[in-house]
Amino acid sequence: MSLQIDTFELPPIGTNAFLVRRSGSTGAVVVDAPLNAFATVERILVREGLRLEALLLTHGHWDHILDAHRFNAFGTTVYGNEGDRALFETPELMRSFSIPALEMNPVTIDRWLEDGDELKLLGTRVEVRAVPGHAPGSLLFYFPNEGVAFSGDAIFRGSIGRYDLPLGDFPTLERSIRERIYTLPEETVLYPGHGPATTVGEEMRSNPFVRAIG
Ligand SMILES: [Zn+2]
Repeated sequence: MSLQIDTFELPPIGTNAFLVRRSGSTGAVVVDAPLNAFATVERILVREGLRLEALLLTHGHWDHILDAHRFNAFGTTVYGNEGDRALFETPELMRSFSIPALEMNPVTIDRWLEDGDELKLLGTRVEVRAVPGHAPGSLLFYFPNEGVAFSGDAIFRGSIGRYDLPLGDFPTLERSIRERIYTLPEETVLYPGHGPATTVGEEMRSNPFVRAIG
């Protein structure tokens, strides 16, 4: 069974939201909630009669959670990591790194996830990996049966997440990438929070910021 993944690059700074479906299931899962994510996916859910099982938040930075409160209001179960609790509860903390006058609403996390947790969504297994360093609460969601992972802002195609933001840390990010991302099967397709998809093997071979060995 394969996943159908729709990628939406959304405002205000081009952050990816993903609508994930699986053949044989009427469920749907959304990963991250930039601005307009709710209206964007709701249209598809209604048109195709899908049931939204979860909103998975890769971390608590404002550009990934601007629309999360709309999923709260819709009754969607929202998942995140405790390390970013302050950012979920008070997105304003990142105000100076965002855009003036942008409306920011707190997000309620219904279920806190930790490294090693396992979820059953869309009738398949989802492995949760903590990948701190860009944000303390950064998570990666790995679908082992489908060979797909949503990696948030830990790693991008040919690049890595910023570690100079408050609570960011390069050695921590480097360790996350080496121990929790480069340890996935090389053919795993990575869907990052910004930019195009890549694979674990491609980054291990060519990512200039974190070498596979060293
Ligand atoms: Zn971020």
